Amino acid sequence: AKANGVGGFVLFDPKMEEKADRERRLRRDLIHALERHQLDVVYQPIVDARSKRPVDCEALLRWHHPELGPISPVEFIPIAESINLIGSIGCWVLRRACETAATWPRHVKVAVNLSVRQFARPNLITEVKRGLADSGLSADRLVLEITESVLLGDTEENLAVLKRLKDLGAHIALDDFGTGYSSLSYLQKFHFDRIKIDKSFITELDHSTNSLSIIRAIISLGKTFNADITAEGVETDSQYQILKREHCDHCQGYYFSKPIDAKTVGAWLAASEA
Ligand code: C2E
Ligand code: CA
Ligand code: CA
Ligand code: CA
Repeated sequence: AKANGVGGFVLFDPKMEEKADRERRLRRDLIHALERHQLDVVYQPIVDARSKRPVDCEALLRWHHPELGPISPVEFIPIAESINLIGSIGCWVLRRACETAATWPRHVKVAVNLSVRQFARPNLITEVKRGLADSGLSADRLVLEITESVLLGDTEENLAVLKRLKDLGAHIALDDFGTGYSSLSYLQKFHFDRIKIDKSFITELDHSTNSLSIIRAIISLGKTFNADITAEGVETDSQYQILKREHCDHCQGYYFSKPIDAKTVGAWLAASEA
């Protein structure tokens, strides 16, 4: 920061001010984003590492701001969480994702991200049930992705909700695995159907033997706990070849496909059937 204050103290930082302005603006505009049809769901294929055939597609939220352009979910999801909008937005994503997936080949599942704040809603289970019933999607074609924040701290209630979601027949995935404080302890608390290796480990794969060791360990944990392992953020052929060689189950990343709109992913999935 520039020392434009008195005696070396910074009294005013224009960068900080700008950041606060933008956040205020996003907070104000996000309230209307859903009703103004500015939100959209895109889908990124997840493929079987051996055959490269699609097994799932992950639903990812997009916000097209009329003046500011596309806003990353990394920026606006935390805002949605802080102003209690994540419940309604999350429910909308889930419904959209189920409706879209109901048109896909039957062996392809849809993965939906759930925020920890959605677990605070007593009606999460009802909403999931309704999303499935209204779309006609069978529960075993839904994967719910959570991060360890759901199991952090006082977790008995969240664990109970997670178990009920699993009892419905949905699959539960642990997202961003390896980045948290005590990732391993969560495997003890709940039987996850899938574990997603955080993309930071995949990015390092080409030049770090440490990350290869970590990936090997996670894949072997997956075998022990009978969970499918997905590698996120696969961008190069050499990363893919290593993951295939190490018997990673599923791969996701720009090397296979970027997130794409519902229409395009539908056509892509239909073509991959042929
Ligand atoms: P995530 O769940 O870890 O999703 C994966 C992110 O990695 C996505 O970013 C995806 O576009 C990106 N990605 C996929 N392949 C590659 C690759 O090869 N290289 C790189 N560099 N990136 C890749 P995106 O779509 O920007 O989403 C960011 C995060 O926002 C998600 O991380 C998730 O935490 C959150 N998010 C997105 N949609 C939703 C939603 O509907 N609900 C909730 N609660 N969170 C969401
Ligand atoms: Ca995810
Ligand atoms: Ca992730
Ligand atoms: Ca992430």
